[in-house]
Amino acid sequence: MDRLTDTYGRVVDYLRVSLTDTCNFRCTYCVPPEGVAPSLPGSMMSANEVVRLVRVASGMGIRRVRLTGGEPLLRPDLLEIVAGIKRSARIEDLSITTNGSRLAPLLAPLRQAGLDRINISLDALDRQRFQDLCGVDAYPQVRGAFEDAVSMGFPVKLNVVAVRGLSYDEVLGFTRIAREYPVEVRFLEFMPLCGSSWRPELVIPIDIIRRIVKEHVELVADGPRGAEVAESCRVGGGLGRIGFIGSLTESFCDSCSRVRVTSEGQVRPCLFSDVEVPLGEALRHGAGDAGIADALRLAVRLKPAGNLYRERPFDRSGASESHIVSAVMKKIGG
Ligand code: SAM
Ligand code: SF4
Repeated sequence: MDRLTDTYGRVVDYLRVSLTDTCNFRCTYCVPPEGVAPSLPGSMMSANEVVRLVRVASGMGIRRVRLTGGEPLLRPDLLEIVAGIKRSARIEDLSITTNGSRLAPLLAPLRQAGLDRINISLDALDRQRFQDLCGVDAYPQVRGAFEDAVSMGFPVKLNVVAVRGLSYDEVLGFTRIAREYPVEVRFLEFMPLCGSSWRPELVIPIDIIRRIVKEHVELVADGPRGAEVAESCRVGGGLGRIGFIGSLTESFCDSCSRVRVTSEGQVRPCLFSDVEVPLGEALRHGAGDAGIADALRLAVRLKPAGNLYRERPFDRSGASESHIVSAVMKKIGG
């Protein structure tokens, strides 16, 4: 098989596809308060185009696909996309990242369509802080969808962006969830993306969170990290796991195995670089699959060795707003 290998020998087997750049939240760590101008009507990939892209990618060794956004659950044809991918592509692990606000009624249909796993973003266990961070008073809905997803037996991860103001008590609250539920709680460092409220002093280095967690539970590493971005540990004596994603202070570029595709069909080799390879013509106008394969191959060849934090891990004392990269998370897909 034609495997996707970059110039540094890393094998790419993970594709993140943004289904939309629209969203019903206004998370301060993701978008500016006034929002981001939406794409032009008709510029987003259609359901057929997404399915075709994933089918071609699966023939090149892509085994894991994550559907993201914007908020992917706003796509009216989401079930068609999930079912189409499962039907036509050899994808072992099809997952979705969602803010969870519209998830509850879609859980059963998503399961039926073949979705394997769900990541729910939940940055606070306190309703007011949730609203302050996400711009909407939706904690009860998101928490409810989380509980329902777990009850239905979906493998669930909770994404928690660690933005300054995350309290000691909340870290403990999330630790308790990882002990009592069979889920993985993943703490993410706040990345300096364009349009977000990022400032160096708002970053909580991941090791601070790790140390708080370790004061309260035993963390058991049960295998090599491999191509996973998160250091993921079992909670000793508990049901779940805790992951730590230190994009800035503990860069994982050396084991990166992913490329991203924006909702408009641009392949993005790295979140932190400006390079984009358009799928446009190949995807749109009935061209053969070869054009899609070429674009994927080129994007993988253009993967940088690492981002700026690979050589120089983030240090708040030397950081400034000049570290903000041009990527807009909501457009590229987190
Ligand atoms: N709307 C969906 C959601 O929030 O889960 C999917 C898209 S969102 C861009 C994907 C993930 O990126 C979320 O877990 C979100 O918390 C994370 N994210 C967004 N901006 C971030 C930032 N500046 N630093 C770290 N993670 C971020
Ligand atoms: Fe929307 Fe997700 Fe960005 Fe929040 S993190 S604004 S929910 S895309």
